[in-house]
Amino acid sequence: MTLLQDSHDGGGLEHCVHCGALAAGPCARCARPVCGDCCVLTEGGASVWAVCTRCARRGGRSLGAGWKAALFWLLLPIVGLALLLAVLGYLFGRTG
Ligand SMILES: [Zn+2]
Ligand SMILES: [Zn+2]
Repeated sequence: MTLLQDSHDGGGLEHCVHCGALAAGPCARCARPVCGDCCVLTEGGASVWAVCTRCARRGGRSLGAGWKAALFWLLLPIVGLALLLAVLGYLFGRTG
């Protein structure tokens, strides 16, 4: 008789949503647990992501579109502000 308690409900251990095997980690897109056989590695920018095969089929293997759009919306106000400062500097610089 052992006193070791095995977790009967599988607490803490996630199972792959596709095949039910022990999951290797969450999908980078839908965050559902997937095993190594049911995920593909994608290159999105600087790092490598693992997305499940369903997300890979639906949205392609690249996360590039997402982070490029995010980068665009991040840079847009900065560029706009720089342009505004340049115009203001030009206007006030003329009188001085
Ligand atoms: Zn699987
Ligand atoms: Zn997914």
